Amino acid sequence: MDEIAGIPPLPTEPFGLADDKLHEECGVFGVFNHPEAAALTALGLHALQHRGQEAAGIVTFDGTQFHAERRLGLVGDHFNRKGVIDNLRGNMAVGHVRYATVGETALRNVQPLFADLDIGGCALAHNGNLTNALTLRRELVSSGSIFQSTSDTEVIVHLIARSRERRDGFMSRLFDALRQIEGAYALAALTRKRLIGIRDPLGIRPLVIGKLGDATILSSETCALDIIGAQFVREVENGEVVEISDQGIDSHRAFPAQPARPCIFEYIYFARPDSIMGGHCVYDVRKGLGRELAREAPADADVVVPVPDSGVPAAIGYAHEARIPFELGIIRNHYVGRTFIEPEQRIRKLGVKLKHNPTPSISVEGKRIVLIDDSIVRGTTSTKIVAMMREHGAREVHMRIACPPIKYPDFYGIDTPDTGSLLAANHDVEGMRRILGCDSLAFLTVDGTYRALGQPRRDPDHPQFTDHCFTGDYPTPLRDWDGPEPGQQHRLSLMAV
Ligand code: AMP
Repeated sequence: MDEIAGIPPLPTEPFGLADDKLHEECGVFGVFNHPEAAALTALGLHALQHRGQEAAGIVTFDGTQFHAERRLGLVGDHFNRKGVIDNLRGNMAVGHVRYATVGETALRNVQPLFADLDIGGCALAHNGNLTNALTLRRELVSSGSIFQSTSDTEVIVHLIARSRERRDGFMSRLFDALRQIEGAYALAALTRKRLIGIRDPLGIRPLVIGKLGDATILSSETCALDIIGAQFVREVENGEVVEISDQGIDSHRAFPAQPARPCIFEYIYFARPDSIMGGHCVYDVRKGLGRELAREAPADADVVVPVPDSGVPAAIGYAHEARIPFELGIIRNHYVGRTFIEPEQRIRKLGVKLKHNPTPSISVEGKRIVLIDDSIVRGTTSTKIVAMMREHGAREVHMRIACPPIKYPDFYGIDTPDTGSLLAANHDVEGMRRILGCDSLAFLTVDGTYRALGQPRRDPDHPQFTDHCFTGDYPTPLRDWDGPEPGQQHRLSLMAV
């Protein structure tokens, strides 16, 4: 039996009362065969901090024992202390940064999860969201499984533990579990002998392989390879299970082959601009989105101003294409979290005010401004910024958004809100323009977005990306939702499990 050091005691609050939502957006990182595995993982997680700022965790294995540290807060708040890293002994590690919505900050949900299976310990870090986790959980609970967290990831652990596939130890049980789950997942798993990287059949969430000397690395994004000086080897492919052990790197297929459909929103907003995804530098894609936007929705204006930081690359592309001067007319305070992190609308509004301030020397007085942002979700950011530009004397404010209107909620880990809160789900473009208070408003088209990604257009029969936020085309069944249409669906509650 494997022992684990550092796992916090079981929570005492009644299960399911604190949180009945499972939406998560996260980053994962893993190291195999490096004496500084924990320190490298902490650095990697630090580079993935934009993917999750509420909690971080690392599990290592030292050849005899697993060690774990899981904390609420930023990576640097806890994992920069020498003592903490020293306690995480071993040359294999997996780590996780986590972003969660209202009420989910309980320590019991912080990953990597650890399970003591009859075939040895297993730590699991998950980025993405399963769309049948509650359905499976219901079945597992009714047949005797006892869940310790409200995280959908724990379903995978239970499926591995209970699998009757005994042919090939851990791997055959893992495949058995993978064939039962649906939705989006990029997983980094650690057992006593292996580091395993897994991507769902469509490759919705990203995962890459890197090399650092004799060590092999797994990471959600390439920017985290750069920080530790590792070389990018390749992406884990959609539907691929990569088994990293003393025998080298083995690639397995858990599912019949099908074309990949990575999440388009990684390119638009979520990934760091200095990451390479699907062969594209994310920064270049974002500039391309701005360029396409300038072609589709030109504006007669004196200056292009980005909403920082998310709108900057698209604004550079727009300004260049439209031949309009570019200015950093708004400065962002980097010590305020992402707007979305604040759990309540009231605080979110305040957050936007705390976050942005006009640059005094860039006078917008009497000028016609094109404001560029990557996306509009609830409309909070844009409303504030348009008002701010008007207060400072802008003559005209033209808002241009470097992605299509977000009309449909996400169920794969991007954590956009439900239909009722999505501005574009409830108003047409003119209605949105009135709410935002700008002189004109335009969004990039779906095909324009695809063009920025090097595709001639979206292929309706075989869409190249997961783009349901704009199209309503959900690429997997949504078994955990019981409403009539995706946009109106209600997730089955954990309370009912
Ligand atoms: P909102 O103010 O609600 O319209 O949100 C739009 C702003 O939030 C934009 O500036 C985006 O850069 C950012 N954003 C878009 N999608 C997300 C997301 N899934 N999580 C956090 N922030 C987001």
